[in-house]
Amino acid sequence: MKIQFLGGVQTVTGSKTLVTYGKHRLLVDCGLFQGVKSLRLNNWKRFPADPREIDSILLTHAHLDHSGYIPLLVKQGFRGSIFCSSATRDLAEIILLDSAKLQEEDADFANEKGYSKHHPANPLYSQKDVKEALKRFDTTGVNRWEKLPGGAQFRLTPSGHILGSTFIELEIEKKLLVFSGDLGRERPLLYPQAERIEKADYLVLESTYGDRTHHPSDPLTELSKIVFDVHSKKGKLIIPSFAVGRAQDLLFLFSLLKSRSQLPGIPIYLDTPMGIRATEIFESHPNWHTLDRTQMKAMWDVVTVVQSQKQSIDVMRSEESSIVIAGSGMISGGRVLHHLAAHLPDPKNSVLLVGYQAAGTRGRLLKDGISELKIHGRYIPVRASVLEISGLSAHADQAETLNWLRGFKAAPRQTFINHGEPQSSDALRVKMKDELGWESVIPAQEQEFEI
Ligand SMILES: [Zn+2]
Repeated sequence: MKIQFLGGVQTVTGSKTLVTYGKHRLLVDCGLFQGVKSLRLNNWKRFPADPREIDSILLTHAHLDHSGYIPLLVKQGFRGSIFCSSATRDLAEIILLDSAKLQEEDADFANEKGYSKHHPANPLYSQKDVKEALKRFDTTGVNRWEKLPGGAQFRLTPSGHILGSTFIELEIEKKLLVFSGDLGRERPLLYPQAERIEKADYLVLESTYGDRTHHPSDPLTELSKIVFDVHSKKGKLIIPSFAVGRAQDLLFLFSLLKSRSQLPGIPIYLDTPMGIRATEIFESHPNWHTLDRTQMKAMWDVVTVVQSQKQSIDVMRSEESSIVIAGSGMISGGRVLHHLAAHLPDPKNSVLLVGYQAAGTRGRLLKDGISELKIHGRYIPVRASVLEISGLSAHADQAETLNWLRGFKAAPRQTFINHGEPQSSDALRVKMKDELGWESVIPAQEQEFEI
């Protein structure tokens, strides 16, 4: 049996791991590369294996960096099944359709302005390709073994990262491979805690925050302080947010603040149609989160939803002091762009970063204190305050990851550390050796191991 790392190695995007056993091949996750251009170009390279020879894809969760390459693999001939939880499937549908729509719009825009080196500029895949890919999804329950071709089997176990997210245990030739996907926090805000896994012969472990400890601060108190401050300055608070996960965290926190009278009278706009749809998907999967009906209702009541582009422009042009939650989370596209282009130059406004900002994204540039941000071809001066709440992260930090690893009764024969920038992966590798005595390796792109 062989395991080959085709993405998410020494980076947090493009997660894809190929497992070859006998005549069979399967992929665990099938994510899109995002962030710096050199990474994104990987999406255009020929896929290292023949997609027609891959039997199955096992998907840990719906985030684009784990699912976003699926339509392209189907377009290139993949004809197998895509296994995941039902909540992951529903979220993947909106995430992939949105991804295709953005790519189609970008290609149209480039063709119109004639700035692309490619004539004509093409999207990686279209919404039609996504619809084709969705036919291949096959949902499964958690905590039960499901059969795969060639006598292999797999089991999904909740991982506490986002709605529907799971670990994957994969048994092939009597060997047990465990994939962490993205590991959730020890006490997730909206989800049941990640389950413990006790045994693995081979472990593939994420390391997004392998070198960091999340501040023990209370995000509710921080958020309240930020909102009162913006309100007193009569400014705007723009919150770039992932539509899936982070947007719901924010709605929940704002609803809590409101119920405790810790929110000034300031309108809050949820300006992300995908975020609105993702919140509806929460309601249809009550087993995958810890919110009750009253709490869900309070989340809807605390915001004004903004559906149309015209409404979004009205909110952007309005002088009123307000809070705007808009995608995308790392400011690589979406409606947050026009809000920032309009409001970054005014020092009475603030931008609040609430999620991981990958290298090369506008979010990371803002976080690192850049003085001008390029949006829609224009350089926008950054005079607004750039704030951060790190306590909202959906990924375990170093200590939480080590605690989860302590649930294993014995060290795996081999641990592969993926899904982290090089310094994070390496810090986790060193700490695991020092604290647990586990040896692990950090694979390189396309590196293959016989196991
Ligand atoms: Zn994720």
